[in-house]
This record gives sequence, C-alpha cells and structure tokens, in this order.
Amino acid sequence: MAAITMQNIVKKYGDGFPAVNDVSLDVQDGEFMILVGPSGCGKSTLLRMIVGLEDITSGDMRIGDRVVNKVAPRERNLAMVFQNYALYPHLTVYENIAFPLRLAKAENEEVRRRVTETAELLELTEHLERKPANLSGGQRQRVAMGRAIVRDADAFLFDEPLSNLDAKLRGQMRTEIARLQRRLGTTTVYVTHDQTEAMTLGDRVAVLRKGELQQVGSPRELYEQP
Ligand code: ADP
Ligand code: ADP
Repeated sequence: MAAITMQNIVKKYGDGFPAVNDVSLDVQDGEFMILVGPSGCGKSTLLRMIVGLEDITSGDMRIGDRVVNKVAPRERNLAMVFQNYALYPHLTVYENIAFPLRLAKAENEEVRRRVTETAELLELTEHLERKPANLSGGQRQRVAMGRAIVRDADAFLFDEPLSNLDAKLRGQMRTEIARLQRRLGTTTVYVTHDQTEAMTLGDRVAVLRKGELQQVGSPRELYEQP
C-alpha cells in the first residue's frame, strides 16, 4: 500500500487549454478516493498520469515517498482496471488471472497460491478452467478484477469499470468492489461520472471541473443537504 501525492499537476495536450490544471490532491494510505465530474473534465487524464500512461507537463506525482514523474508504468507497481476490460479469449480464467504473474516470471508455486486465493476472494473457484466466452458478464468483470489484484499492487486504479454494465450487474459489482477494498485495504483511486458510485464507494470524493479540482470531501460533506 502507498499514499499517492499529487502536487500542482498540469497536463497540456498540444498548446490548448490544460486538460488538468494545477491539481494538488493527497490520497491517504488505504483510502478509497473517487474522482468524479462531467465528461472531459480530466478524470482519465489524471488517472493515466498516476499510472504513467501519460506524461506530466508540470508538477510532481509521488507514490509513497518516491517521485514517479519519469518512472515507467510497469515499475510503479499499480493495478489498473479499465472500462473495456479485455480478457484473453484463448486462455482459461486461471491463466487470465495468472497473466501478470507470468509476465513477472513468478514461480509456478506462487502463481498457484495467488491465483487460488484471488479466485476464492472473487468467488471464481468453480470457473477456473473455463474460457471467457463461457462466462456471464459479471463473472468476466470479476476475472478482470482478479487479474488486477493478483499481484500485490501498491494501489488500485479504476477507470469507470462499471459503465458498460446493466443496472443490476452494476449494483452487484459496486457491492463487490466495496467488499474487496474493505477486505484488502488497498489504496484506491476510482474514476466515475456516476453519483451513486461516488456516494457509496468513496471514503472521499474529489470533484473535477474543466481540469481543476473543485471540491474534496467525504460523500456526506459533498452530497448531503444541510
Ligand atoms: P472518455 O470521455 O470516456 O474518457 P473519450 O472518448 O473522451 O472517452 O476518449 C477516448 C480516448 O481518446 C482516450 O484515450 C482519450 O485520451 C482520447 N482522446 C480524448 N479526447 C481526445 C482528443 N481531443 N484528441 C485526441 N485524443 C483524445
Ligand atoms: P474525462 O476522463 O473526465 O472524460 P479526459 O481526461 O478524457 O476527461 O479529457 C480531458 C480533456 O483532455 C478533454 O478536453 C479531452 O478532449 C482532452 N484529451 C484527452 N486525451 C487527449 C489526447 N490524447 N489528446 C488531446 N486531447 C486529449
């Protein structure tokens, strides 16, 4: 686990208006932070700068006490779950979840232990030998999450992971994500434009507007009317 510290972060694409404009935000160790705001406000850009998929124009990004501005994504030890999670269709659930460990050249013994634990946590144990095509939407989503959490990542980053699901499944997955995060206590940054997700999942919510940080507070502080 690690805190994520953003200090005066600016991102300009070309010479236009900054997509992210002087954002300073601390995500505490073990905290579940939501980034919320209308389409185009800079949520994804900010998340991608945390992960290292996007260069920072100016400012400092820290993970733990390390400045990561120039650190390659794979050396940041973060786990990212995308909106359009892509599972490998020719691999079983087991091998899909194991994939990041294989890349990291983990020993078979460790792979087996971690995949088994992760599958239990996500209630996928009975489906380990199946291929993605034979799973329900919710199961596929859980496999994608399994692949993200199977390594001991310092933080989880979610980019609208539920936005392509139907309402019922979205509700189930919301509960699932909340349960997992409580259980694992891993620092999490979660991008959404859905107020229900923001209100129910986050310890704190950061509201972005036109690239700027507008408000940061607990869901109660932000959404409850006095
Ligand atoms: P979302 O609003 O869900 O983030 P978008 O359709 O805005 O999705 O963006 C999809 C992809 O296109 C992203 O990878 C984003 O970085 C990129 N993108 C968005 N706007 C532009 C743009 N003006 N020029 C080039 N790429 C863009
Ligand atoms: P959000 O995730 O809140 O929808 P984004 O971070 O995707 O917002 O986009 C913020 C702004 O940056 C938007 O104006 C978008 O068009 C622009 N943008 C995003 N990605 C790119 C890109 N690759 N090239 C140029 N402009 C981009």
